Amino acid sequence: MLLSSGVVWRHVEWEDFRAECPGGDPELQRLIWERLDDALDWLVSLGAAPVWQDTENPRTTGKRFDPRALTTLLARDVRLQTPLPAAAEPPLVLATGGFAKRLAEENGLLLRASPWSDGAGLDYATARGAKRTAGMGEFYGRAMPAPPARIREEDFVQLSQLYGRWARIYTDSGRDITPESVSWSENDLAQRIGARAWYVLDGEGLEHARERVEAARAAGGTVVDARELPFETPAGSRVAVHVAAAVTHTIGGIKIDTRARALDGVHVAGVDAGGVATGGYASGLAQALVLGLVAAEELSR
Ligand SMILES: Cc1cc2nc3c(=O)[nH]c(=O)nc-3n(C[C@H](O)[C@H](O)[C@H](O)COP(=O)(O)OP(=O)(O)OC[C@H]3O[C@@H](n4cnc5c(N)ncnc54)[C@H](O)[C@@H]3O)c2cc1C
Repeated sequence: MLLSSGVVWRHVEWEDFRAECPGGDPELQRLIWERLDDALDWLVSLGAAPVWQDTENPRTTGKRFDPRALTTLLARDVRLQTPLPAAAEPPLVLATGGFAKRLAEENGLLLRASPWSDGAGLDYATARGAKRTAGMGEFYGRAMPAPPARIREEDFVQLSQLYGRWARIYTDSGRDITPESVSWSENDLAQRIGARAWYVLDGEGLEHARERVEAARAAGGTVVDARELPFETPAGSRVAVHVAAAVTHTIGGIKIDTRARALDGVHVAGVDAGGVATGGYASGLAQALVLGLVAAEELSR
């Protein structure tokens, strides 16, 4: 949460949520979609001051918070680097942020998240008999400049190569993998490009991408004249940027019901829970906020 852009959002239209995340559990999606506005009011009532009263995307609605201020407000009594005790007994709420680190390592991808979310919650729950959802290999991610670019945590947002819709996309061996269409979040491209790919821009594309391309170059990423590539690209190609998919958070995870419950006494909040955005992309912060409240209500019954 601290590393995020702080936009807690949902789709404006329920049908858009379903269409963009078709593999997700409709009941869980509905829970988050219906409860988010009240949950945001609750957050504001605690003293969280929105820096935007709504998102800047007409397809979504929500609020943006300063992530550091939000973390300071909410994260009290946090002991960092304290592993989840294997013998921890229910009742408890698992909220370890999924397994981005593990997924990135297994697939040769970059990590665009804290290095701490390594599946502790998932392991704890499944060892006790909880089920996993579909889509365990899916992630919310971004194209980032491939190594040798140096990417610090504070550069996660500005180094995102979020202009794939303007690019032709090639594997390292020169296979054209440009999709017919690209979603607004470009999360589908992150899944597609995998460990390495080239974004090739013509003059028009470059107009849209220049700032981010220059950021990649400044970070030490590989940005070359398209003519230097060892494979053919269309006439008019100007610049090629070597990119890699980076995992922000996992989309599959622990299977829960609409009471945020994986097992009796074991509740799950945030992206430790799978099956919300399967097949697409939705707000991880909204998932954390709503499921956290639901889990807390359940445990205080
Ligand atoms: C650059 C960036 C921008 C983003 N922008 C947005 C955005 O604008 N909107 C949005 O909705 N989402 C955004 N996200 C995603 C969002 O941050 C996550 O989806 C969200 O924080 C998930 O919440 P969580 O509570 O599940 O996990 P986290 O916020 O990751 O919290 C999990 C916590 O558990 C701790 N932990 C892990 N394992 C253990 C363990 N074994 N023992 C103890 N503690 C442990 C971790 O250190 C961490 O503090 C962004 C993420 C990044 C990196």
